[in-house]
Amino acid sequence: MLYTYPDYYSEFHCIADACEDTCCAGWQIVVDDRSLRRYHCEDGPYKKKLHASVNWRQKVFRQDKEARCAFLCEDNLCDMYRNLGADSLCRTCRLYPRHIEEFEGIREISLSISCPEAAHLLIERREPVTFHSVEKEGTEEYEDYDPFLYSMLADARECLFEILQNRNLPMENRILLSLGVAYDMENRVAGGKLFECEAVFEKYRKQTWFFAAGMKADKYRKDMKKRYLFSREMFGNLRELELLRKDWEYQLNEAEILLFAYGADGYGKIQEAFYQWEQEQRKSGSEDAGETETKETEGRKQEKDWDWNIFSEQLMVYFIFTYFCGAVYDGEIFVNVQMAAASVSVIWDLLAVRWLKNEKTLDAEDVKEVVYRYSRELEHSDKNKAHFREKLKKQSTLFYCL
Ligand code: SF4
Repeated sequence: MLYTYPDYYSEFHCIADACEDTCCAGWQIVVDDRSLRRYHCEDGPYKKKLHASVNWRQKVFRQDKEARCAFLCEDNLCDMYRNLGADSLCRTCRLYPRHIEEFEGIREISLSISCPEAAHLLIERREPVTFHSVEKEGTEEYEDYDPFLYSMLADARECLFEILQNRNLPMENRILLSLGVAYDMENRVAGGKLFECEAVFEKYRKQTWFFAAGMKADKYRKDMKKRYLFSREMFGNLRELELLRKDWEYQLNEAEILLFAYGADGYGKIQEAFYQWEQEQRKSGSEDAGETETKETEGRKQEKDWDWNIFSEQLMVYFIFTYFCGAVYDGEIFVNVQMAAASVSVIWDLLAVRWLKNEKTLDAEDVKEVVYRYSRELEHSDKNKAHFREKLKKQSTLFYCL
């Protein structure tokens, strides 16, 4: 069995009671059957508390009025862990924030950015993310599984990473090129021309396509009417999702009022001002980076805080690594890149709102918070993910097809 991880995977450590927004509150924790059987057989002094804290019919842990897990103590540590040890935890609690995608003979493991610490690891990282694979014992065979399609999807993902991590190109261009790769690949696969996909990857690796994407991205960036419509549509999609946290609705309301109350013109003014600010930060960041080198030589490390190009690259790579190859099960290739691009676009808009509220400033902490809150609402509900994907498939403002 081949296990693949992002290179920062081993740096993750749960900070438990020091966590700013524990994963043990605010959503239902589903308990696997094996753990339920173990809990049922527990016969020690902890039996009473354990049995009373599980909703056996729904197979979840009970919660209090504030949606805190019944095992979560005042000090934000787990009472079951304290009394029965780490081995007592159910699969959800043991794994989170690890997210596993399963393919024949392959497990792809990411760290869900719905966890603030995992989001922090991704956001603070400056170098392009790489992925490592290790072979461990175990084999398996799936029925109705197309290994050729998986292999081509894995090649496509390599091509997408190459494009998305090409820092010589503006991020908008990289996103457009990625969408182009996925769009063309899906058409080839749907037409039974799987082996033509290699030619698609080669096409998008060429400089001429970089140029075409640049022109299109620039045109789109300046077309505030289209951007306004697209953004409204995305927030409309988010509104239709099942609400996991009550305060998320408040965040959406606030974002919509601040961004859309004055129509496309008002939206455009905010975007232009935020874009200017972002450019200035990036410029001063690269000047600081020169200084950082000097300071590092002297043993004094100074981190630069803000670079949207890098944040958005890491986010795109995260979404593509996590979901792209899942197309082996449904052939829906394009929508996985659409979802990544739409998520980055929504996160940008939410950051613009945060920037306005912060009197025109932002730092990496703001980015982390916006990212993990967005991810919690979207990624932690299969229903939400499926609904968002369906909306994207029908999306009217297809601004990005090359
Ligand atoms: S959200 Fe992440 S850091 Fe916080 S308690 Fe859960 S796993 Fe630990």
